Amino acid sequence: MILVSGGAGYVGSHCVKQLLQRGYEVMVFDNLSEGRREAVLTERFVQADLLDREALNRAFAEYSIDAVMHFAGLIKVGESVDDPQVYYQNNVVGTLNLLQTMHKHGVDRMIFSSSAAVYGDPAVIPIPESHPKRPKNPYGKTKWMVEQLLEDYAHAYGLRSISLRYFNAAGCDPAGELGENHHPETHLIPIVLDAALGRRECITIFGTDYDTPDGTCLRDYIHVNDLAEAHILTLEALKKGCASSAYNLGIGRGYSVREVIDVCRQVTGREIPLEEGKRRPGDPPQLIADPTCIQKDLGWQPRFTELDEIVSTAWEWRSKA
Ligand code: UDP
Repeated sequence: MILVSGGAGYVGSHCVKQLLQRGYEVMVFDNLSEGRREAVLTERFVQADLLDREALNRAFAEYSIDAVMHFAGLIKVGESVDDPQVYYQNNVVGTLNLLQTMHKHGVDRMIFSSSAAVYGDPAVIPIPESHPKRPKNPYGKTKWMVEQLLEDYAHAYGLRSISLRYFNAAGCDPAGELGENHHPETHLIPIVLDAALGRRECITIFGTDYDTPDGTCLRDYIHVNDLAEAHILTLEALKKGCASSAYNLGIGRGYSVREVIDVCRQVTGREIPLEEGKRRPGDPPQLIADPTCIQKDLGWQPRFTELDEIVSTAWEWRSKA
């Protein structure tokens, strides 16, 4: 049985779907603070918080857990700057509770949702895993702290883990069953699609004076199902006995904010009013992964290599949501 923390959330729910399709038994542990009950595709569901150690203990006692996929966590960079203690409490203390419970119950495999935010402002593009870790905000720091916790758990207790450093997760389940639904939404593609749907007046481009080809930030957008596929390969590698490590997960290609808006125009066939605004504090000009390690070690390859394919899946879901 795989315990999926945060399995009601955006990436977690897509992973649960793929796990179930591959025949894995899955239970979801989620407090539904961000996730949605209807996105939990397994009947085995515990609604509880990682800060509730009793509930964690009960879940591990009730189910025979072989490995943990740990998605649960707070993800808003700006909020983490304004209220860091909530981030350290949820993302670091919550993960420590989970690790302690795993250790107590003899569960020794974890896949952790890390982030490109561990790198801070990149010194080289594309970014290799060996790049210095200089997270610029409490959110990125919590991700890096957990990676370090995992390293120490590996040495001391033999816990094996793989941290997957996501670049920009995007797109939705092509079957239309699951989508991306944050409250409030802060991510570029859903916001642009909302502007196309008339649910927002316009999209504001955060900064047009970056040292990039068109002056706007470049990001590496990876389809959520390609992320999910990487989790399954990682799970299989851990089962075969591989050592702990961390991998970048992006497709290795950058798209500017203007390019994203243009692709959304093409895919939706709609007008997308835009305005040029100020830079958003803390945004690095470019974040592009070097994904060759996970490709070489685990044979991972993205299926969605073009942005219009990724946006089409997001549009399909959002226009009906
Ligand atoms: N962005 C933007 N307008 C918005 C939301 C995002 O210009 O309303 C830009 C943002 O500055 C960044 C890119 O779009 O350069 C991707 O932002 P998102 O929040 O989706 O992901 P992040 O890269 O911050 O994880």
